[in-house]
Amino acid sequence: MSKSQFLKNFRLPNVFILLIIVFISCALLICINFFTIKILSANRAYVNGESHYSKGQKDASRHLITYLYTKEPNQWKLYTEELKVPQGDGIARKTLLAVGDNKVARQGFTIGRNHKDDLDDLVWLFVNFKNISFLAKAIHEWEEGDNLIHELFVIGTQIDAKIKYDALTATDQQKFLSQISNISDKLTINERNFSNTLGEGTRKIKSLLIITNIVFILIIILSVCTYYSIMVKRLLASKKEIEIKNEDLLVVNRELDRFVYSASHDLRSPITSLKGLIEITQLEDDIDQIKDYLRLMHQSLAKQDQFINDIIDYSKNKRKQVIIEPVSLRELFEEAISQLMHIENANRITFTQEILVDQIQSDGLRLKIIISNLISNAIKYADNSKLEMFISIKTYFSDGCNKIEVADNGIGINDEFKDSIFEMYFGTNKNKGSGLGLYIVKEAVENIKGNIAVFSESTIGSKFIVTIPNSHGI
Ligand code: ADP
Repeated sequence: MSKSQFLKNFRLPNVFILLIIVFISCALLICINFFTIKILSANRAYVNGESHYSKGQKDASRHLITYLYTKEPNQWKLYTEELKVPQGDGIARKTLLAVGDNKVARQGFTIGRNHKDDLDDLVWLFVNFKNISFLAKAIHEWEEGDNLIHELFVIGTQIDAKIKYDALTATDQQKFLSQISNISDKLTINERNFSNTLGEGTRKIKSLLIITNIVFILIIILSVCTYYSIMVKRLLASKKEIEIKNEDLLVVNRELDRFVYSASHDLRSPITSLKGLIEITQLEDDIDQIKDYLRLMHQSLAKQDQFINDIIDYSKNKRKQVIIEPVSLRELFEEAISQLMHIENANRITFTQEILVDQIQSDGLRLKIIISNLISNAIKYADNSKLEMFISIKTYFSDGCNKIEVADNGIGINDEFKDSIFEMYFGTNKNKGSGLGLYIVKEAVENIKGNIAVFSESTIGSKFIVTIPNSHGI
């Protein structure tokens, strides 16, 4: 078989496709769950970070206002320390946006009081998903917040300068207070928006995760169920096959038993009669009587020969494989007739042939067995009492099949025997045959996936029609 032919004929069994689907689904499920959990965990880290950012900003504002009114240097120190928290986050944001050094970003997040275990997730989510809508929106809010933090920082510097140069007036205090409150209000809105956007994203991811999990689990369940139903079907089919084979084996065994029993009996009986004939011939002086005994001996031997031939046909039919080859029906008929002309009275019979189909594709050995047995029976069971004895042979094509017809005007078959003639060892006249002929014919016909029909009427004649399918039907 060529490579292209092999590829054309090659079909992956269904079960393997199902197993591959299950395997891929499981792998995808694991990957999707892993990354979703990573995204959700990073989102949580950002929400956490935002609360530090917000607290830092609020504490810084509070210390700045206290500093504005008390001018205590400690309050200034606390203000700058708290302001570093949102500023650190701001550095991380700018570095990551500029695709800068991740180490600097991590330092920024650490200053922003993020937990060290969250740093990887924070950087990973930003780097890989900064352009995804919900994160892009949150980053935008964050940027606006950073700008306000910068404004707070500038106001802080101005307040500090005025305090240091003792130039802070009550009006300045009022003005700075209102600016700080204003920034705080705006930052509160930004921070809320930031958290809400992340929360929204988290919820969307969660629903998406649930849907994908359900879809993949359904695919896995369906594939596994189909896999099991295919396996169960195959198991049942092979069980049935084994049962049929077992039944066949029992039938063959029974046939074999019968065959051995009858064969030993039928093989012995001509020998026994031959021995008896020899004994009485030895005592006989009359030459005519001796000739008669010799004729009987010849008959016994012919019967033995026929039986051995039947056994050989039986064995060939059982043993040999069906081989489809070009066969000439005409040649098979000619050969069979010439080989069977030795049968008593055969030369008195008129043979007619109408060969409409000659060359066919079939099994030569089986056709030879079929034709030879049908013609031999037609000769053996010819009606000697009739003035004209004939055997008509026909081949033709009908209903998409080749047909062989062997008809005679012999003794015909009694209705009571018609159902039994194809059975092993069934014969109405044990002197004429072993009873194996039509049994072998039936088996040979079955081997080439054909069929055989018989039409017969006692004293009128018989007709056997064999249907041979075209070779591609075998
Ligand atoms: P046998 O060896 O006895 O001929 P077969 O199996 O060939 O065994 O045939 C079984 C029986 O069918 C025969 O004994 C005979 O009674 C009947 N039979 C077969 N062919 C014909 C025929 N052409 N005409 C009449 N009877 C036939």
